[in-house]
Amino acid sequence: MTKTDDKSYKMDTVEELLAHSMTMETEAAERYREIAEAMEVHNNPEVAQLFHQLAGYADKHASEMEERAKDLTLPHIAPWDFIWEDGDSPEAADGFQTHYKMTPYHVLQLALNVEQGAYDFYQKISNDSTQPDVKKMAAEFAEEESEHVALLQGWVGRYPKPDAHWDEDLDPPMMHE
Ligand code: ZN
Repeated sequence: MTKTDDKSYKMDTVEELLAHSMTMETEAAERYREIAEAMEVHNNPEVAQLFHQLAGYADKHASEMEERAKDLTLPHIAPWDFIWEDGDSPEAADGFQTHYKMTPYHVLQLALNVEQGAYDFYQKISNDSTQPDVKKMAAEFAEEESEHVALLQGWVGRYPKPDAHWDEDLDPPMMHE
């Protein structure tokens, strides 16, 4: 694995790829469940359901990866050595801390960025790797992510962007009568 200045992701082994992707999917599932719970609290069962579904896809993806990894020895990668350098994996979505005041529009945008980021990540690995088995596996993962992107694109249109003041008085915590 080589980090290069132009942000190309050179992975040489499927073990490296799996070590990264399993972490990504596990983090994604956790974050999606947090959002699902927040949407339940805010009486949006429909969006909550979608996020439970997305969490389920991430679980499924992670267990498929575990299956592929079971006879391999994955490298132990310290958090600071993961190929993404900002500390959060592409699928972990920054900003989920503020979800209590997020609208369906916002959480859907966030999820779309997450899934698009995951797609780009795998696609780039597939393009940049010189190893056929890494290219092939990353391309398969990218294909699955593109399905999640398409699913979310269908949802985003259902929830119009709230007006500019959406965050000023949107059901802040501790203010319920
Ligand atoms: Zn995904």
